[in-house]
This record gives sequence, C-alpha cells and structure tokens, in this order.
Amino acid sequence: MSTIVELRGVTKDYPGARDVVHALRSVDLSVGAGKLVAVHGRSGSGKTTLLNVIGGLDRADAGEAEVCGLDLFAASDRELAELRRTRVSFVFQAFGLLPVLSAAENVEVPLRLQGIARDARAARVRELLDLVGLAPRAAHRPSELSGGEQQRVAIARSLAASPSLLIADEPTGQLDSRTGAEIMALIHQVVAERSVAAIVATHDLSIIDVADHQLELSDGAVVNGQRPRSYAESHPGGSEADGAGWSRPEPS
Ligand code: ADP
Ligand code: MG
Repeated sequence: MSTIVELRGVTKDYPGARDVVHALRSVDLSVGAGKLVAVHGRSGSGKTTLLNVIGGLDRADAGEAEVCGLDLFAASDRELAELRRTRVSFVFQAFGLLPVLSAAENVEVPLRLQGIARDARAARVRELLDLVGLAPRAAHRPSELSGGEQQRVAIARSLAASPSLLIADEPTGQLDSRTGAEIMALIHQVVAERSVAAIVATHDLSIIDVADHQLELSDGAVVNGQRPRSYAESHPGGSEADGAGWSRPEPS
C-alpha cells in the first residue's frame, strides 16, 4: 500500500491574546492510497489546522511530515503550491464554487490550470459530472443548485486534476443529515474506486462509520486513533498491522 500522508509528532502553536494556543500537539498520522480517514473532535480541537498543514496551506512548527513524497518542512512555498495544484485537492463546508460559472465550468477550472486541451477538458468534465450524478445540471450556476448539488460539483472539481489526496473540511456542515450522508457516501465511493486517499474533518459522529480509520482530536492532541468501532466489533482480535496505518512508529 503506498503511503500518501505520513505525520510524526507534528506540532503547531498559534500566538494567543494571553497564552499560546497549542493547535496541534505531536500528532501522528499515516494514510495510504484508497483509505478514508475521518478526523473528529469538538470545535477548536485542531481539525482545520491539521488539514491545512497536510494540504500545504499552513506550516507546522515541529515534527516530520511527508505528503505525496514531499517533505513539508523542507519544501519551499513554491513546492507547496505545486503540491496543491497537482496532488492534493480541497473540499470545503461552504462549497467554494465560483458563482458566475456553470457547474461544468467550475469543474473545468483545475483542468485549465493544468493546461489540458479543450476537447480533453470537455470529456473529463462530462465524466466527472456523471460520476457525481450531476450531468443534467451541467449548465446551471451554483445559485440554481441545492447545497447537496453544489457540494457534488465541488467534489467533481476536486477530482479534476486527478489528485492523490482529497482533503474535506466539514463537507457536510451546511447540509441536512440525509444529504450529508449522501455526500459522505459519494466521497467513500470516490476513494474506493479511484484509489484516492481522503481525510475528512467532521463533528458528525454518524458519518464516521463509513471511514476506514478515525482520528479524534482534543485540544490539538490525538485522543483516539483506532479503527471504527464497527470494524473492531466484526474483527475481534484482528491484527493492527494489516494495512491500518495506525501503529505508532517503532522507536529507533
Ligand atoms: P477546529 O477546526 O477543530 O474547529 P481549528 O484548527 O480551527 O479547530 O483551531 C484549533 C485552535 O487553534 C483553536 O483554539 C483556534 O482558536 C486556534 N486557531 C486556529 N487558527 C488560528 C489562527 N490563524 N490564529 C490563532 N489561533 C488560531
Ligand atoms: Mg475547523
């Protein structure tokens, strides 16, 4: 299994008004291709900080971090930008679609940035909108789409550049629970079918069940990094080594 994300002892502080905020305290995480990891924990527990560090949007202070083969501590700003353009993509709570563009044009944006030719772009956009079940809405602008449909477009867009890693920060936070469950099912399907790794932050416990692994944060520290309960129950005594990626590094 190829490893997409490898974090060891990742730490990040923010200067606060009075005290330093320890946003991440020595976080370990390992995510392989085709794995879906749910990051949960209360508001302020460090989920967004963790996702932003992994996606190269923000820098950690200490530890070791490798994403898609790039050492995030050694990388230049330019290399981080390149990582975001080519290997890692984001889905946000507020969808983040460009309002003046149609669904199809929104999905096309990353393909334009990659310099892909027009015919190839059109075919890829069609394929992606089909994947998320929105082909009939291709010409609609975001304001003409429901929240769930907008998030489907955002997911299609996030896959346009064929990323290795999909990062979603509370992607169902603005959706009703049924639509949220459909969006999570779609992310799960994409991860399985395209062998993309995904890290999804959420505080909706009901959607954690579809994840391969979960990571619970509290005040920036990992408090629970086991497999989902449903897996543990159905595999009593199962080996922790079998592809779970949750073992702590061996002391060297
Ligand atoms: P979550 O996504 O789980 O709600 P965050 O990662 O956004 O948590 O925040 C973790 C902690 O870091 C919180 O205490 C938050 O106030 C603080 N924090 C986040 N971003 C900044 C920032 N840019 N400057 C200062 N403090 C921040
Ligand atoms: Mg957050």
